[in-house]
Amino acid sequence: MGIFRQAPIRHKLNLLILLVSVIILLLTTVAFIVIETVSYKRAAISELSSLAEIIGANSRSMLVFRDRAGADKMLAALAEEPSIRLAYLFDRKARLFSRYAKTSVHLTEGDSSRGSLPGQVLQAIEASRGAHLFTSDHLTLAAPVIHDGQHLGMVLLQRDLSVLQKRLLWFGVAAVSIFGLLILLAFLIGAKLQNLVSRPILNLLDTVKAVADEENFALRARRGSGDEVGQLIDGFNDLLARIQERDSELHQHQHHLQEMVDLRTGELLMANVELQETVLDLGRANEATAAANDELQVVVNELERAKAEAESATLAKSNFLAIMSHEIRTPMIGVLGMSELLLKGKLDSNQRSLVETVHNSGDALLTILDDVLDYSKIEAGKLELERVDFDLRETAEAAVALFAQKAHGKGLEISCQIKPGTPESLRGDPARLRQVLLNLVGNAVKFTEKGEVAIRLSSLSEEDGSLLLRFEVCDTGVGIPREVQETIFESFSQADNNTTRKFGGTGLGLAITKQLVSLMGGEIWVESEEGRGASFIVVVRLEKQERLRLCHRPLPEELMGGRLLLGSRHGGTRDMLLSQSAALGVAADSAPDLPRVLDLLRQGAREERPYRVVLIDADLATGPGGGLDSALTMEASAAGTRLVLLCRQDRRYEDLDRGRCSDVECLYKPVRTATLAQFLARVGKENENAPSPLSPLAGEGAADDRKTSG
Ligand code: ADP
Repeated sequence: MGIFRQAPIRHKLNLLILLVSVIILLLTTVAFIVIETVSYKRAAISELSSLAEIIGANSRSMLVFRDRAGADKMLAALAEEPSIRLAYLFDRKARLFSRYAKTSVHLTEGDSSRGSLPGQVLQAIEASRGAHLFTSDHLTLAAPVIHDGQHLGMVLLQRDLSVLQKRLLWFGVAAVSIFGLLILLAFLIGAKLQNLVSRPILNLLDTVKAVADEENFALRARRGSGDEVGQLIDGFNDLLARIQERDSELHQHQHHLQEMVDLRTGELLMANVELQETVLDLGRANEATAAANDELQVVVNELERAKAEAESATLAKSNFLAIMSHEIRTPMIGVLGMSELLLKGKLDSNQRSLVETVHNSGDALLTILDDVLDYSKIEAGKLELERVDFDLRETAEAAVALFAQKAHGKGLEISCQIKPGTPESLRGDPARLRQVLLNLVGNAVKFTEKGEVAIRLSSLSEEDGSLLLRFEVCDTGVGIPREVQETIFESFSQADNNTTRKFGGTGLGLAITKQLVSLMGGEIWVESEEGRGASFIVVVRLEKQERLRLCHRPLPEELMGGRLLLGSRHGGTRDMLLSQSAALGVAADSAPDLPRVLDLLRQGAREERPYRVVLIDADLATGPGGGLDSALTMEASAAGTRLVLLCRQDRRYEDLDRGRCSDVECLYKPVRTATLAQFLARVGKENENAPSPLSPLAGEGAADDRKTSG
């Protein structure tokens, strides 16, 4: 079986076909022989039976008449029938009556006796009408002889079967020959037919081998038939087609990849070449740079020499300027002192005007000298900042107060607000801070024709020991064009050429201010639109004092509980007074016009919480007729409220009709916090001494204060 499995398919098919053919032929031959034998035997039996019947019929009379000779004669006629080998005729008592034997048959004694006949035949003869028996070479048949229902005897015939044997032999030979022939034919046909099956498979096998050996996926197996093998070949071809397609795609990819690799390699080579060129260029550039460096070094050396020379020249210039300004300052102070003395003396108007011009010019010259001195000091690096304790409120208000007269003279409102909560006990250089403020406020007043100048201070942030102080000086003046907002901080720079002609100045103030601010580690910038005023903003870091110093005397208990009413149409002034009241711990309300002031006064009286003091702007209180508003004075005196006028420093109010409040006193704007504190303290004290809070206050103290306030 194992060998069969290993054998080629061709041989397997051949063998199978042969095997099947042999089996079929064998079966057919056997069947044929069996059929032939059976039919031969039947025919022999039938023939022998007919012959036995004929003999029986002919022998009846002979048996009845015991005509032995006739019987012998009749049986001898059987010689004509060569196949009959023996013939016996028995009588009723089964005794041999007549017999015939073919000449070639040698009868023995036994053959003629009844006992030599086959037992079965004789039994059959006795029991039935007839029977037959086949031996290897004979057919023996017995048939009874009956007449009219009477058993007369029996005929026994024996037929030679050698014909059958010969026929069978012949048939066997023929069958073997045919068998051999058929086998040969089957082999040839099988060989031919198996080609139909095996050839496509072998073809396929060859193709598979070729594909495997050559790795050529373009090969295809030939499709010989439409059966399963054909479908298998189709499937295989299809598979090959796909592999080929994949293969070609792979090849294309490889090709593409190779192209890309080549391209990139080319690019890299190019880049490499370029890099080398760049390196060479760089080398050359390096050399050039080294040469340039050398040259630069020479230039730098020269520049350093020139710088040193320039610095020493600047130092010499600054020293010269410092000495010169100092030298000019001394006689100038003399000139100013003398002109002031002259002005205090008796002069006619012409002389006064001349002396005033001399004094003003001297004053302007002194300012310029101060600026030049500061500038030269800063340039020479000789300006050093102090570090002393100071009070922010006092410093700021003092600086602003210096310009009050000038501002009021131009009809400007001026105010200084410190945002409540801003630390005021600081450490730094108050003189330089004041200088910065003076410069900015001075400019604001100088470049503003109408409106107001407001100074606002606040703390941007606080750390442990320091705060970031922001102060802004805002005005409603001419403003500064955007394009020069940077340059005005440079020395000797002014917004336009007309400035000097119109307003005077040197263009040094802001340069010095900027230097001072940066010395304090801060910044300064301007926000402005031409014709819409300007805001100069300064941010500096200042130290806070460890212990907070109380700068103002605490106010009397009674006043602390009382309230102030502030009436002014200027928002800056109202805010300033409100912030000052807050700083002093006094509750205050404000109103922008007279009717609202009166409303608040009446409301206070109604609620039995009268205002202690009304600080009313003189511009608000004095009507066109020049008198204090009568309604106001009435309300104030009725509620026992102290009425105080806030006056501009340029106005004289002696001619003011004070109505019922004849003792109305004046505080000059901008009121400093210290002045307000003193005033309120005095009011408190007077109230303590007064018989009733509703009685009018004595005017003497107020008259004194009028001279000192502001
Ligand atoms: P000076 O005032 O002496 O000319 P500054 O350095 O103080 O010099 O000012 C430089 C210029 O900046 C001024 O000439 C003016 O053109 C402009 N300037 C400064 N402050 C103001 C301001 N508040 N409003 C308008 N222009 C101003």
